[in-house]
Amino acid sequence: MSQQDTHRGPTEPSEVWESYRGAKTGTELECVGWRQEAALRLLNNNLDPEVAEKPEELVVYGGTGRAARCWDDYEVIVEELRELGETETLLVQSGRAVGRFETHERAPRVLIANSNLVGKWDNWEHFHELEAKGLIMYGQMTAGSWAYIGTQGILQGTYETLAELARQEFDGTLEGKIVVTAGLGGMGGAQPLAVTMNGGVCIAAEVDEKRIQRRIETGYCQERVDDLDAAIERAQEAAANGDAYSVALQMNAADFHEALCERNVIPDVVTDQTSAHDELEGYYPSGYNVFEAEELREENPEKYREESLQTMERHVDAILELQDRGAVAFEYGNNIRGQVKEAFDREDAFDFPGFVPAYIRPMFCRGKGPFRWLALSGNPDDIHRTDEAVRELFPEKDGLLRWIDLAQEQVEFQGLPSRVCWLGYETDEDGLTERARFALRINDLVADGEIEAPIVVTRDHLDAGSVASPNRETEAMKDGSDAIADWPILNALLNTAAGADIVSVHDGGGVGIGNAVHTNNHVVLDGTELAAEKARRVFTTDPGMGVIRHADAGYEAAIDEAKESDVPVPVRDRQ
Ligand code: NAD
Repeated sequence: MSQQDTHRGPTEPSEVWESYRGAKTGTELECVGWRQEAALRLLNNNLDPEVAEKPEELVVYGGTGRAARCWDDYEVIVEELRELGETETLLVQSGRAVGRFETHERAPRVLIANSNLVGKWDNWEHFHELEAKGLIMYGQMTAGSWAYIGTQGILQGTYETLAELARQEFDGTLEGKIVVTAGLGGMGGAQPLAVTMNGGVCIAAEVDEKRIQRRIETGYCQERVDDLDAAIERAQEAAANGDAYSVALQMNAADFHEALCERNVIPDVVTDQTSAHDELEGYYPSGYNVFEAEELREENPEKYREESLQTMERHVDAILELQDRGAVAFEYGNNIRGQVKEAFDREDAFDFPGFVPAYIRPMFCRGKGPFRWLALSGNPDDIHRTDEAVRELFPEKDGLLRWIDLAQEQVEFQGLPSRVCWLGYETDEDGLTERARFALRINDLVADGEIEAPIVVTRDHLDAGSVASPNRETEAMKDGSDAIADWPILNALLNTAAGADIVSVHDGGGVGIGNAVHTNNHVVLDGTELAAEKARRVFTTDPGMGVIRHADAGYEAAIDEAKESDVPVPVRDRQ
């Protein structure tokens, strides 16, 4: 039976999903063991109405990033996970359970591949053809790997990026500075709070008023002002007073940025997180409200695509103009520069940098990236205990401690309580990496009963050694190796060998089909010796890939990290 035969349509979500509406919590198991239970809870957490952007369409975030291919597939995955044995591995291909094999206890329980296409066919056109036949699904990054935790998941990354920008450009703070951006979706919604956490002022344009409402209700944005001039005025006043302030404006990003140019209101920083990676289903053309745009998309997708790309070109032109007039401009990982370059042959679309080479790569060289964990109990106290563990283990890391304080004060949990901390390699005297040290400590706390139920540790796909993405994570690599996808594939193979409980490999993600290959992994810390063994290995191999990938490309910081932390880099070691 093809997907089309069984597809219930976006408005008829599964009754099984209705019966959950989020992850089950507590200590009672529905599955054979905690590793399978973790996979089931993560899948349902991704589709929690508090977490996902459009759960009734299986859309988690990032344009059309889905957790399962269709509702029938969702139900099959749920049934498979409930029955999956302790020595079996479930295979998920683009949101469909396609096989279950006897493997062994130390092997992953679930292996996932999403949206991958063979090079010559690796574009949106083929993807959409195959999607219409029900053969493939857009997995985005953490949507299809069941690791999405809502806007809180990206918050620290956005906060760290802006903190680094502030260090490079403005004496370490955004106080008195105005940041303009657009897109208040699942990821982009973190921007206003990340700006105010850095002491600055944010004006964010967003077409969809429901998204604005959601960010205001969850405390990510302070207020909505409908009039452009009033929003500018309030922002300028707050900046002049040194107040941290954020305002959402219902407006198309291109119109907003052009209006700033017309008024010669030059912000200190300009960026963007609309879903420009997908011109059909992620980005809104100018001149349409949400309902009109949806009608146009339905009736005339070609016209929609054309107008959407035209708006993107105006949007990029306005960012370039603001940059020329003094704003610090950077692309925030949505491939808007790549889209404009490709559609209009505009090399100059890349005249403003991507956020990774500008602000993140030095951390990647040290294997540092967005490590995250969720409390399967559903009990916020479990996460608060892990916050304590961060303080106990890393008392000398001021930035990390400040982050934990800010997160406790200002971040509302969405779905299963969870936390993000950028941790890296940096071994201690016992040879344990930062990530391994933390995971082993948590495993002990679970074993001792200080934490009520297992903690599942995972990360974003955007990490040090897990991505090839020439317009984003691997933009402008020192040795020109931007487009080589061997690295993320080795990363997934290695994490499987190391015994992660779920491992996934995706194409596409934040920058669109054909533009990236990336991976994820999860380890369930259930307090057992087996979990400790896996954690020790996976949280060495995974950040270790970041170190060797950047050392191979010739980055001094990575070569230093490899020397300081004893990471073998065979060719260099034997020279
Ligand atoms: P999303 O689809 O949930 O939200 C995008 C938002 O942009 C929507 O609310 C939409 O209404 C709004 N929008 C679209 N076109 C607009 C326009 N022209 N003007 C104003 N608003 C417009 O996506 P998301 O999860 O928030 O991700 C946003 C983008 O950032 C995606 O391209 C995603 O792939 C990328 N991304 C970046 C990172 C990162 O680390 N920087 C991480 C993940 C995703």
